[in-house]
Amino acid sequence: MTTWNKKYRNLGGTYQDKVKILLALYMQRTIVDPFTECHIWQGAKDRHGYGSLTHQVKRYQAHKIFYVLFRGEIPPKWELHHTCHNGHNCCVNPFHMEAMSKSRHTRITWAMRRLKE
Ligand SMILES: [Zn+2]
Repeated sequence: MTTWNKKYRNLGGTYQDKVKILLALYMQRTIVDPFTECHIWQGAKDRHGYGSLTHQVKRYQAHKIFYVLFRGEIPPKWELHHTCHNGHNCCVNPFHMEAMSKSRHTRITWAMRRLKE
């Protein structure tokens, strides 16, 4: 299994190169929701509604790649949980996400679902 950290490293170049390329994409392809400060991805989306981007013929889930770029590595097998709860799977604001284990993510997701019922 390729971890996100490995995929990120495979982007190649230095950190500065990645910032230049990815930040330019970020600025082009997001709009900011003035109320929630969600950075809503305007580019392509996958079937779950997550933003996706293509770089050198490889596809990446946008929120994960931006998380690794701006916040740091995601521990192996951990997942990203959107803390903004706006139903925006396409929010790519790295500060609207928390890395957590799969079991914690599942528990939180179920708890949130019950709250909305
Ligand atoms: Zn958000």
